[in-house]
Amino acid sequence: MADLLRVHNLSIEYASPRGVVKAVDEVSFSIGKGEIFGLAGESGCGKSTTAFGISRLLRHPAKLTGGSVLLDGTELTALSDEEFDRLRWSKLSIVLQSAMNNLNPVLKIRDQLVDAIVAHEPEARREALQRAAHLMKLVDLPADRLDSYPHELSGGMRQRVVIAMAMALKPSLVIMDEPTTALDVVVQNGIIRKILELQKEFGFSILFITHDLPLMLEMCDRIGIMYAGKLVEVSAREEILRGARHPYTQGLLGSFPALSGPKQRLAGIPGNPPDLIRPPAGCRFFPRCSQAVAKCQTLQPALKQDNWGQIACHLYTEEGLSREQASAARE
Ligand code: SF4
Ligand code: MG
Repeated sequence: MADLLRVHNLSIEYASPRGVVKAVDEVSFSIGKGEIFGLAGESGCGKSTTAFGISRLLRHPAKLTGGSVLLDGTELTALSDEEFDRLRWSKLSIVLQSAMNNLNPVLKIRDQLVDAIVAHEPEARREALQRAAHLMKLVDLPADRLDSYPHELSGGMRQRVVIAMAMALKPSLVIMDEPTTALDVVVQNGIIRKILELQKEFGFSILFITHDLPLMLEMCDRIGIMYAGKLVEVSAREEILRGARHPYTQGLLGSFPALSGPKQRLAGIPGNPPDLIRPPAGCRFFPRCSQAVAKCQTLQPALKQDNWGQIACHLYTEEGLSREQASAARE
């Protein structure tokens, strides 16, 4: 699969009264054309900050301190604001958790959709209303809702409008940060189904961010697991379903009820993520890891490719643990 997005050594910091927080520390991954790539991890691990860095939504005091973001051959970090604005929506769009923040409360849905289209395609003014009506249909909203103001719609409907807006200019990448988290489960399922349907129809790539690992395992082709500002594992969905390898991924999976099969007690992960102002010298997961070996305390594991995916853990890269041994050790 050809790469659409290549993120290389992305680093994001922000100043706090106690010191510099390294929120995202040299994160690298790529997303193929038409691929659904998930980023998972506990809150504060840097997954949203990564998405904001890619889509240039970082706000003071957060700032990009290094790395590269190549989208279809264009280096996003090198673009001026005007150049980037031209790409936004047409090449890359973003759907955030709270639809209210995306919609203008004083404008009818009609005007917001039309504005989004016309801002990028001024020549489309005459057909923009028709396209807006078509977009409403795509997300299963009745066309007469074009005349509504955001507050007249339910949370689920508003989120559908935001998804319609994200589709308006047929972007090649849609970044979705907890797109359904604020909604109840039934509405959430409907929207996820709709997103997958649209993705199939239009073939865009998705960077999907959620703390809901079971949801991610349902919909993503590949999954990156972040811990304390670092990417610690990137594996195909099937690999993680066969059994997670990284001790943190194992813990994360253990914090959710089993997707199927008998009910198990939730294991969770004891302890808390480290302080990102003074992260541990070695593996950042060391203080919470039950499988740590001596070098974990002092030597930071790098993310390395092996037969099963990419992993940053000495058990695999230094100790030569195989996939089978890793699963045997867990049983
Ligand atoms: Fe645990 Fe060591 Fe692997 Fe870190 S490198 S996850 S401490 S075993
Ligand atoms: Mg977040």
